[in-house]
Amino acid sequence: MFPILSILSGYHKRFLQGYPWLYANEISKSYLTKELEPGDLVTIMYQDKPIAIGYFNRHSLISFRVLTRTVSESIDTTFFIKRLKKALKLRSHFYTSPFYRLIHAEVDDLPGLIIDRFDDVFVIQINTQGMQKLITYLVEAMQQIFNPTTLYFKNDSPIRELEGLPLAEPTVIGSSFKDLNVIENETKFTIDISSSQKTGWFFDHRENRKMIAELAKGKTVIDYFCYSGGFSLQAAKYAIHVTGVDSSETALQNARYNAGLNQLTNKCEFVCLNAFKDMDERITKNQYFDIVILDPPAFVKSKKDLISGLKGYEKLINKALQLVSNNGFLMVASCSYHVKEIDLKNCLTRALYKNQRSGKILRTLFAGPDHPTHPLLEESNYLKGLLVYLE
Ligand code: SAH
Repeated sequence: MFPILSILSGYHKRFLQGYPWLYANEISKSYLTKELEPGDLVTIMYQDKPIAIGYFNRHSLISFRVLTRTVSESIDTTFFIKRLKKALKLRSHFYTSPFYRLIHAEVDDLPGLIIDRFDDVFVIQINTQGMQKLITYLVEAMQQIFNPTTLYFKNDSPIRELEGLPLAEPTVIGSSFKDLNVIENETKFTIDISSSQKTGWFFDHRENRKMIAELAKGKTVIDYFCYSGGFSLQAAKYAIHVTGVDSSETALQNARYNAGLNQLTNKCEFVCLNAFKDMDERITKNQYFDIVILDPPAFVKSKKDLISGLKGYEKLINKALQLVSNNGFLMVASCSYHVKEIDLKNCLTRALYKNQRSGKILRTLFAGPDHPTHPLLEESNYLKGLLVYLE
């Protein structure tokens, strides 16, 4: 048994239904809560019965995150082995090659933990004090299941600060490396890990990149916020020509290298510029593209940014509409969980009206099955997008 905390009466329902968190105001405060170190394991009681084990951090608004509702379960290497095997089994239904998100935090019952798999290299983000404290078990479990070449801990996510964790330099267990290799939809990518963003690769758009690639046959494409060329190069296999635009020169160095890796250099160009500025320049020059892709970074990082962030998406769509040719396509995505599908549709509607164009939504887009969503946890449903046809 771990130190015991209780749910305050009236706050139990959502948690009993499967919600994985308890907020600070939902837990009874006793002398104990002050004695607990951030990330300590605790048992949660409801009506004098233990109902969950997880970790507690009184400095975080999300004070408790559940690890197990089987209160007899030990939290040790075996616990991690079971969780990792469960996650692996789920991915095995969808992927035949070992490149995917292996652990998607709460939704894979390992709150505060992200693991992206690149064959036998694993890029790991630890985002909570509680998960940080369990790291030895995690490493042992990873070694037993995967015998990995490298576990690369990339602990630079700003959400660590909400937990009182520092943004840390990467640490490596196993062989160090410079280039992270990815194969996605039969396209090869190499990312210089030292200058990479997030875990190095955005696996969440795999299915959307495949869809765009299939659509790109015989078309011209412009890919805004192209990073290392995920959409650009998969589209370039089929397209007449692809332009990728990003404000990060290091991301574009990867993209250009990756074009060469796939013998696509003659069909691609990569431009280092602010996307808004690039659009303005092309609008002035009356340039048109059959497909315009917009996959910006999160414009809405917290709820208070929602209104200004939505203005950003609308501005972006408004400019993009001026670049899509007749009978062309626009793909717009948002990775801010505060932005709902309806918000994107509203931005689109207003931008269509402003441009006096009519558009049809062909598909609503989301992350692939290696980024499952928790039915009660809206935060896990962060990626949304629209594929729009413009007459
Ligand atoms: N579409 C990419 C992922 C995009 S991540 C993929 O499929 O992999 C967001 C990218 O936007 C980053 O590469 C970042 O460098 C770039 N970025 C951020 N602000 C930008 C801006 N104002 N103009 C152009 N690129 C920007």
